[in-house]
Amino acid sequence: MSGYTGRFAPSPTGPLHAGSLVSALASWVDARYHKGQWLLRIEDIDPPREVAGASTEIIDCLSAHGLHWDAEIVFQSTRAQHYELALQTLRNKNALYACECTRKHLRALAADGSHAYPGYCRDKGLDEQNAALRVKIHEQEICFNDIAAGNCCDNVARTLGDFIVRRRGPWYAYQLAVVVDDALQGVTHVVRGADLLDNTARQIALQQLLSYPTPAYLHLPIVESGDGRKLSKQTGAQPLDNHNALGNLQQAWEFLGQQPLPECVSVAGFLEKAVSQWKRNRIPDRQNSRLDNESAT
Ligand code: GLU
Repeated sequence: MSGYTGRFAPSPTGPLHAGSLVSALASWVDARYHKGQWLLRIEDIDPPREVAGASTEIIDCLSAHGLHWDAEIVFQSTRAQHYELALQTLRNKNALYACECTRKHLRALAADGSHAYPGYCRDKGLDEQNAALRVKIHEQEICFNDIAAGNCCDNVARTLGDFIVRRRGPWYAYQLAVVVDDALQGVTHVVRGADLLDNTARQIALQQLLSYPTPAYLHLPIVESGDGRKLSKQTGAQPLDNHNALGNLQQAWEFLGQQPLPECVSVAGFLEKAVSQWKRNRIPDRQNSRLDNESAT
């Protein structure tokens, strides 16, 4: 093993589609090219957005496309104790506080045009029961060198402010769960869609507060639907047809700017060749694009 650990971390909000396959394939092939391991984590921490049976469908779909993972699948819904420990670390650092602001209140606070949370509840010492928890974010320019998107910087305190790490419920926020799990699973490389680029500086801010290492990031161009929006179930993405796994992989591969591998006739043969031919520097630098045969809806 090379010390490289990658991962694919889908939320079970529906079956995988052509856009999700681009992320799954790129993260898998980049890990295999670097002789690393590749982990599968199901991000099932948002029950209202989940679709019954989606986790199983995702797992079956990855298998049908030959994208096999190492180690046991991690389900975030089973990991509350890890998220609570991280919250305790933040609490000990006086970097966590309860917030009872309602949406209406937040809208009124944003009336001055700023979208950053102004720290309204910061010094109120509110009871954590039945409240959301926010992390205190200090003014700081956070920069990282994305392997595909280049140098990216964000002053999270100004653009977002103290953000929620646990919602009332209690439900753990994506930012907290992703940072805790990437660290606990030893993830060294995060390869995912550029729709998550804006989240990266926030995640680095949390990693720093929790004394976690920061992985390398590679954000991929986003597959668009016919109307220019990110391909998703809401924008009419069709579930991947497992019977057309080779064709689906070929399409994702070409979307990633790689040299076509038309001579491959099996999924396993295609993937083996793909690992040997993978070139990060061929990934197009456009942030968004359409897959040619994805139907407009
Ligand atoms: N679960 C997230 C999603 O499906 C991805 C998280 C990540 O890759 O950081 O959009």
